[in-house]
Amino acid sequence: MKIFSNILDMQNYTLTLKRQGKRIGLVPTMGFLHEGHLSLVHEAAKHADIVILSIFVNPTQFGPNEDFDKYPRDFERDRKLCEDNGVDAIFAPEVADMYFKDCSTYINENKLSAGLCGARRPGHFQGVCTVVAKLFNAVLPDIAVFGQKDAQQALVLRRMVRDLNFPVKMLIAPIVRESDGLAMSSRNKYLTEEQRRNALAISRTLFKAENELKAGRKDFDAIAGEISATISASGGRVDYVEILDADTLELPNETPRGLLVAVAAYYGATRLIDNIIITVDGQE
Ligand code: AMP
Repeated sequence: MKIFSNILDMQNYTLTLKRQGKRIGLVPTMGFLHEGHLSLVHEAAKHADIVILSIFVNPTQFGPNEDFDKYPRDFERDRKLCEDNGVDAIFAPEVADMYFKDCSTYINENKLSAGLCGARRPGHFQGVCTVVAKLFNAVLPDIAVFGQKDAQQALVLRRMVRDLNFPVKMLIAPIVRESDGLAMSSRNKYLTEEQRRNALAISRTLFKAENELKAGRKDFDAIAGEISATISASGGRVDYVEILDADTLELPNETPRGLLVAVAAYYGATRLIDNIIITVDGQE
């Protein structure tokens, strides 16, 4: 397995392989890998000859009071997991490799990123779009795999790729959960045992809403209110609970193709997000 930190070396590696007709798959991550990330690796391997996983804790997507400095990092553990899961190369640049000190060019998506996490984390999606565009230029992938876990991010990045004509096929893979339902996240490491137990309220109440929506319940505000109340009762501090059109992130009209139920909540200082998508014919 190759490891690159330098952008030119990374580009040369993929350009050589592309000249040999190989399809390159990219899995962008911030590291501290778990089964969710590895499911994206396996999805990439189904569609590409070469799988490259990037590890970069991107400073521009963190707000000034967020957890950039304490975000969990363990390169050696990540390297081993990549090797064991068939990754061909890791791209792990330093912040100084990725951002010029006087960098003054950023990418903004202005519609899908307006609500949900975008409204609560100013600048977050500008950071995400910019870093993913830069990762695409460094790795030159044919396909890229992202997780449904970050539902809004997946939609925003799909829109960026469409609007800016990136020649990259976007694949979105389902949420991987712990056996008790908690959505896997590098940030779960911050939770105390008690917080982790309490945080199960998020997935439990989402699954309940999923059943109710599939059964035809249409009082979205009331459902969102019940989800919020359940999370608050478990000791969580709700940041948002919203039921939106899964394609547009607008309030659902009479006949949405799909519904997104999206939750963000704090347990202690740890902000967790989770979601479910319900398609109209009832298939997830
Ligand atoms: P992160 O390292 O948290 O930035 O995540 C990197 C990629 O992994 C993103 O596309 C996430 O949506 C995806 N991801 C994170 N957690 C999960 C999960 N539990 N299931 C599936 N994909 C995930």
